[in-house]
Amino acid sequence: MERLAHTKVSKASKAEPTCVRVENVLIGGGAFTVIAGPCAMESAEQVLTTARAVEASGAKILRGSIFKPRTSPYSFQGIGREGVDLIKLVKQETNLLIETEILLAQHLDFLASEVDILRIGSRNMDNFELLKTVGETGMPVILKRNMSATLKEFLLAAEYLLDAGNENVILCERGIRTFETYTRNTLDLMAVPALKELTHLPVIIDPSHGTGRRSLIAPASQGALAVGADGLLIEVHPNPQQAKSDGDQSLNLTEFERLMSQLKASAEVYGKTL
Ligand code: PEP
Ligand code: MN
Repeated sequence: MERLAHTKVSKASKAEPTCVRVENVLIGGGAFTVIAGPCAMESAEQVLTTARAVEASGAKILRGSIFKPRTSPYSFQGIGREGVDLIKLVKQETNLLIETEILLAQHLDFLASEVDILRIGSRNMDNFELLKTVGETGMPVILKRNMSATLKEFLLAAEYLLDAGNENVILCERGIRTFETYTRNTLDLMAVPALKELTHLPVIIDPSHGTGRRSLIAPASQGALAVGADGLLIEVHPNPQQAKSDGDQSLNLTEFERLMSQLKASAEVYGKTL
């Protein structure tokens, strides 16, 4: 792709695959890394129950948003800054690393010291000033593909992070908009091998937003492993029916445990460590 020719994301600039290390956890480099947890952190009980369960099932990183970008301003917007106390609680009570979404550069003031990985969500993939600021921190960052971005646009968004001096970038495919309505988005599994032809950065899949349906999370996850993804970002809730956001695409704790054991068996076949 012509416009990627002289970019830092391109394989031409760096032949060997980038492996992002977050403390003792690797994303890339032959690992299959599962990041799991609630769409949104709601309460101490919900977060701790989920954290303990996903840790017991073998996950090393908890996901959980405290600020939620919602389509409607009347939908739950997240618990906000108070959520930092829940993040601290998880750190005290478990050995999990924490991943959360950053919506505003100013939030770095209280997020940077508490979380291990920042997530830039689909809606902010092309918020270029946010990309520059997060890039300057050097913190590990998951960049989600905008639902209407081409792979080239996705990679050029990642380029903002790398150009600001941050190599710790993980790309996340989370489904794109098509005419199909049965699924919430159309999960573009071929984005994984295609991105691997173009870039050295690790690529993970979000089977929750990518499908919108709990029943499709397991097949989408197995598909991710089969096409060479470096991991998953999955929504898990102790009681999905009661979730304040995205319950329909969240696994309950037992379903997550089952999926993890199925993925462990498949990971061996594909020569990945989980
Ligand atoms: C999320 O992962 O919490 C999220 C909001 O997803 P996306 O940005 O892909 O819509
Ligand atoms: Mn969600």
